[in-house]
Amino acid sequence: MFDDRSKKFKNQYVHLKKMDVNNYKSFVGKQRIDNLKWLAEPLQRKVWANVNSTAIGGGVAEMLQSTIPFSRGLGVDCRWFIIEGSPEFFKVTKKFHNLLQGVKQDISMEEVFHAYLDTIKWNTEKTKVVGHMVVVHDPQPAAIVMSGNVYGHLLWRCHIDTSQASRRIWRFLLPYINHFDGAIFTCKEFIKDQLQIPAYEVHPCIDPLRKKNQLMTKKEALDKLSNLFNEHNIDPKRPIVLAVSRYDVHKNQKGIIKSFKQAKSLLSKKIKPYLIIVGNSASDDPEGEMMYQEILTAIDGDKDIQAWLNIEENDDCIGALMALADCFIHLSTKEGFGLVVTEAMWHKTPVIGSKIGGIKLQVIDEETGYLVEPDDSKTAAKRIKSILENSKEKQTLGKNAHRHVKENFLLPSLVERYLLLMRYYLEIDNKIPEFRMNELTYKEIKAALYGRTVWPFSSNDLKKKVETIWEGLA
Ligand code: UDP
Repeated sequence: MFDDRSKKFKNQYVHLKKMDVNNYKSFVGKQRIDNLKWLAEPLQRKVWANVNSTAIGGGVAEMLQSTIPFSRGLGVDCRWFIIEGSPEFFKVTKKFHNLLQGVKQDISMEEVFHAYLDTIKWNTEKTKVVGHMVVVHDPQPAAIVMSGNVYGHLLWRCHIDTSQASRRIWRFLLPYINHFDGAIFTCKEFIKDQLQIPAYEVHPCIDPLRKKNQLMTKKEALDKLSNLFNEHNIDPKRPIVLAVSRYDVHKNQKGIIKSFKQAKSLLSKKIKPYLIIVGNSASDDPEGEMMYQEILTAIDGDKDIQAWLNIEENDDCIGALMALADCFIHLSTKEGFGLVVTEAMWHKTPVIGSKIGGIKLQVIDEETGYLVEPDDSKTAAKRIKSILENSKEKQTLGKNAHRHVKENFLLPSLVERYLLLMRYYLEIDNKIPEFRMNELTYKEIKAALYGRTVWPFSSNDLKKKVETIWEGLA
């Protein structure tokens, strides 16, 4: 059922051309783009390398596909490397992912040392990654930091919700993570104890120029969906509740099905909605097929619920579905951010999201959508009913949601933070970036006392702390 699309990317380096950043002026204004050009001025032809474990599927690949061309358009030599791995490697890194998101699972020494560390060693023997700044995304490639074949200012970007990470896996990864020069999280609650490196807050973003984010009318959306709807015998006049994500235990598609079934019993007889669940596979996620089968079982023959896997013309159809849907629902039990929420909000579709991780940054309850507990199917069902029965409410939430994304979660904001980090690490700027989340680390204090001539601290508290130590040494 799953096609191995990763075969196209045998090479470890993904080539992407630069794009004209002026095209984004209409979304974020001329001033923001001019400011980015100014920030990028001293970074011309400097290398910003990214390393992750898949080119397709999931939010990280989605963002890199836009971040790389945009940054290249600003003159930064932005690059993308992908580590390769066997099915055993991705099986064990998926366990890391689940354990970091708080699911209890067994993991053996054999898996950690053989499937994980040996694959990392093999990868770095084949390729050297060199950059002025190197960003390593998620736990899969984290251990490459110790290989001796990755050079530059090294940052670990954690995209997942580590708020309840298993202690065991966190402690295994810590020596690797603490070997980086900094870590990036989506929000403060994801930082775990004993992190001894600077931590920064960066929110994921969507690219308004990608096919799936191009705004369209309902009529245009319907045209794009005609083949897909014919194939699945969908009546376009009926309302649609939509859910899009990988088939993964944390995405809680079963909770969505339960909420929808309850909503149907609350709705007036005239309203007959579909629940359409769409999901794809990521080449670094081996559990998708099994989860998909479980979802088909949970649907239990209900003709109003559809679950689709790896749809054709994915980007066109995802965008059209988001634009056409009457309501988007995303009830993850753990969520680093949830780009699908951003995408639906951008398309002015009201979102019912769970009060979890990164979803809380996006959905402001009763203003840009609705927040519910991930297992509270009763409240989720009531929210589905009120959105489907009240077109004014639907419109207002959708309008607010679109504005919220426009102001906070578009690609230029994401690149801006990376440029600020690059400028800081290359000592073009001496002040700590404002989106720094933790206190000064031991290493930084040492550097401030014995190395740097300029105070790198913007906050008085931090400055005072170093001064106290300095006095103690006098
Ligand atoms: N996606 C897609 N087709 C699908 C399912 C998901 O294109 O069938 C995309 C979705 O539009 C989003 C990304 O995959 O851009 C998922 O990112 P998100 O942050 O929501 O979740 P992750 O998979 O990273 O946990």
